[in-house]
Amino acid sequence: MLVGPNCVVSIYYTLTNDTGDVMDKSPEGQPLSYLHGAAGIIPGLEKELTGKVAGDEFNVTITPEEAYGRHQQEMVQQVPRSSFPGDVEVQPGMQFNAQTPNGPVTVMVTLVEEEMVTIDANHPLAGKTLHFEGKIDAVREATQEELDHGHAH
Ligand code: ZN
Repeated sequence: MLVGPNCVVSIYYTLTNDTGDVMDKSPEGQPLSYLHGAAGIIPGLEKELTGKVAGDEFNVTITPEEAYGRHQQEMVQQVPRSSFPGDVEVQPGMQFNAQTPNGPVTVMVTLVEEEMVTIDANHPLAGKTLHFEGKIDAVREATQEELDHGHAH
């Protein structure tokens, strides 16, 4: 069957950035399954897979707008170094959860200075052009339960 709304699609994929570094990859023998049309994967990849069938390969470049969005400067903040617990060694690349009025978000430390720490709440892949290469392993109709839940089981 063709990949379209209300299908569960299983894909093998490798995600690389503009310089060819592998950012993510489906484990050997464990394809990623998602419910098509339910925002389970980024819009650009979903668009690319629409109409394909099991066995088809794909190799697509996706702009930030069709992936994790632009990097938003207002989501970058500076906080005093003293606001971190004293026993935590704050280093660039460190991730932690912060409570916000909209619920918990994952933020990453991007710069550590003597007095101030710069943190970034953007998705780590925001602002990045993504390259997906892979193969469709299987396509099937979603069950009623999957449609009710809005995700693949
Ligand atoms: Zn469920």
